[in-house]
Amino acid sequence: MTEQPTTPERRGPLAPNSTIGIVGGGQLGRMSAMAAARLGYRCHILTPEEDSCAGLVSAGVTLGAYEDPDALRAFAAKVDVITFEFENVSAEGLDLLASLKPVRPSPAILRISQDRVVEKSFLNGAGVPTAPWRAVDDFAGLEAAVGELGLPCILKTTRGGYDGKGQVMLRTVADLPAAFSDLAPQLLILEGFVDFACEISVLVARGVGGEISVFDVVENRHRDHILDVTLAPARIDPDLARQAQALARTVAERLDLVGLLAVEMFVTAKGQVVVNELAPRPHNSGHWTIDACPASQFEMHMRAVAGLALPAAVRHSDAVMKNLVGAEEVGLWPQVLGTPGLIGHLYGKTQARPGRKMGHVTRLFGRGALPGAFGVADALALFGPRFEDGSVEHGSVEHGSSGDVQSEDGSSAVED
Ligand code: AMP
Repeated sequence: MTEQPTTPERRGPLAPNSTIGIVGGGQLGRMSAMAAARLGYRCHILTPEEDSCAGLVSAGVTLGAYEDPDALRAFAAKVDVITFEFENVSAEGLDLLASLKPVRPSPAILRISQDRVVEKSFLNGAGVPTAPWRAVDDFAGLEAAVGELGLPCILKTTRGGYDGKGQVMLRTVADLPAAFSDLAPQLLILEGFVDFACEISVLVARGVGGEISVFDVVENRHRDHILDVTLAPARIDPDLARQAQALARTVAERLDLVGLLAVEMFVTAKGQVVVNELAPRPHNSGHWTIDACPASQFEMHMRAVAGLALPAAVRHSDAVMKNLVGAEEVGLWPQVLGTPGLIGHLYGKTQARPGRKMGHVTRLFGRGALPGAFGVADALALFGPRFEDGSVEHGSVEHGSSGDVQSEDGSSAVED
């Protein structure tokens, strides 16, 4: 691709009935398109997948590969402004799009979020704390990095990992050779193990004029490396919550973000907040906002992309969100619909492969009334006994590894 981005600037808000282009056809694009429709916009999807869940609810689809210049040009010709719904789209492809139409967030932000080494360098440069880390070029470099950071630690691919894929926990030096051969020859990063009390995330939106809206901090619980449950708000010290929101705001400003950004963080056992990673798009941990906020993460994202004003990220209710993963959980859909208080969302996927996010459910509580562990278990009783003692699994890297960074759909997608 020879085109250099000139980033055409769009002044003023996008007129009603204009078309927002979304690169990617997953559920994040689907729920963005549904929010855009409510604001009077049409969406047009670029995806290689026929019957994509975003395409099913959009005005149009360009079927094609994210790296195919002809598909990219055909897509750009159909739309007024462009965004993306997952990080593993080709940055060069996005550069080509940016030479034709405004792309929000910018390809520069995508590039930072696509590479863990670039991302952590950026974060540390902005004064944002992360786990200690070292870039790893070869096995000798891995040994040296383990010597510096100590054990346990986590070896990750710098690019393409998602849902715990592309990373291996190292507990003893005996683990090094297998871990290295599992993940190499991809570029690698070694991270010190963060002894965390809980995982949290913050969604921040920033508009074209630099105005910022920050959602409340939420707490995330994983199962089999995949987000299982989000609690809104996070049950953490209010000072830590304010710190987390301030960090998200700093990151959005330093990135010169236009759009929505998810900042995944750990609260350490010692009560510090450190950032794990960035996702410049709507995020699974923000799905609760559809039902618990006047303007959801998807509406906030579409507003920012369209150059509209951003409302405050107000939460009218507390919420618990549970993903419906794989055939077993989506098989409970009739019971979800029959359970008073459960709000169901299905993504229109026809195949329920293991680990695939098929939909989610939300349960609302009055503000300040989010129950403790047993109440959450009770609220989600339909999903089985693992919630009964409130000990929803946390820490998803413990259970092993995979060098496979392909998505569930066979593309190199990130589906958070
Ligand atoms: P990631 O792909 O970086 O989001 O990692 C997936 C999951 O692995 C996180 O949600 C954490 O549960 C765990 N994890 C990742 N990095 C670390 C770390 N440096 N220390 C402890 N746990 C981690």
